[in-house]
Amino acid sequence: MHLSQLAMSIGQSATLKLNELAGNLKAAGKPVIHLGGGEPEEMIPSGAREEAEKNLSAGFVRYTPTTGTAELKKELCLYTKKHYGLEPEPKNIVVSSGAKQAIYNFLMAVINPGDHVVFPAPYWVSYPEMVKMVYGMPVAVPPRPGELVPTAEDMEARITSNTRAVLLNSPNNPSGQLYSAEFIREMVEICEYRNIYLLMDDIYNRLVFDGAKAPSAFSFSTRGLEDSVIVSINGVSKTYSMTGFRIGWSVGSEAVSKAMAKVQAQVTSCPSALSQKAALGALRGTDDFVETLRSGLEKKRDTMLTELAKLKKVKLRKPQGTFYCFPDFSAYDSDSARLAAMLLEKALVVAVPGKEFGLEGHLRLSYCGSLTDIIEGVERIRKALE
Ligand code: PMP
Ligand code: GLU
Repeated sequence: MHLSQLAMSIGQSATLKLNELAGNLKAAGKPVIHLGGGEPEEMIPSGAREEAEKNLSAGFVRYTPTTGTAELKKELCLYTKKHYGLEPEPKNIVVSSGAKQAIYNFLMAVINPGDHVVFPAPYWVSYPEMVKMVYGMPVAVPPRPGELVPTAEDMEARITSNTRAVLLNSPNNPSGQLYSAEFIREMVEICEYRNIYLLMDDIYNRLVFDGAKAPSAFSFSTRGLEDSVIVSINGVSKTYSMTGFRIGWSVGSEAVSKAMAKVQAQVTSCPSALSQKAALGALRGTDDFVETLRSGLEKKRDTMLTELAKLKKVKLRKPQGTFYCFPDFSAYDSDSARLAAMLLEKALVVAVPGKEFGLEGHLRLSYCGSLTDIIEGVERIRKALE
């Protein structure tokens, strides 16, 4: 039977594919070390578990309003005030089945066929494919040689009258780089001046290191939320280690939120009722959970850096957030897919080829697993390359 041109043209999610591969190899008894993962291994907050269990027993198992329950949206207004200094109302919030769906809702709501969506490279694997899924044109802006973030000037040069949105993810998956306040301020200015959307994928915004804080795009805006060009995306997957609950959300003007809600209503009706309760439990908890996760990741980042320093020909910029780093392995092999395949075969280490994130010569290595895996994984890579 025939398949659509769309289905045939979009790529598989490289990160999810590798997760599956690592799982299969482990199940087959192979001592694989998965440095390609994208989720923390910590247990979820106790409040999340309690709410999910309690509400399952109480039968809170039906559809909820499309954009999320009133209590969760109220909590998210408080969350946004605390972490962004912005005071949205429930009408500005759409709760979705993961941040991924929130990004897709946004693109469905604002992109017409042929519209350009501009984002920096390296980028998260799903951005180009999601843009293609709404028949838009992904425009990736590479950094200058040796850098991991393009200049604001290079971004601006790619923004044309066809551009409908700019998409930023900071701290960044895969590079771990925190975009500077200056860069974000310039992007806000450009988008406001041109009246185009600025989607901020803030999913890692609380997982930052060395005492830094991720600047909020809203803090540079000269507009109120109702006529803002900024839409911010976040979720419980990374910050609360709740990937399987599939809860994300967006904060934006009422107009864009309404359009996103219409899309969501036709696609998934609403996010899972029980997961919304669990998310509420997580958000109402103290900040200790996130701080323990964050500081643990910072230590793991340091271990990863110490281990990678033993590979003399690897070039690495220190990640300032997330749980990824993006070393340049081109001195060993400039073809990242070939290198990743060799490492899997020879060292039984899973790494994601930089090519999948739009930057050849690099590998994405995650440090969200155990310290032992980080140390042994990098040691195996070193041996395989020597
Ligand atoms: N954005 C980025 C940059 C990510 O790494 C992820 C992780 N999958 C997401 C969005 C989506 O997260 P989720 O759908 O699990 O909320
Ligand atoms: N965001 C994670 C990653 O980049 C999870 C996998 C995915 O959703 O693609 O590995």
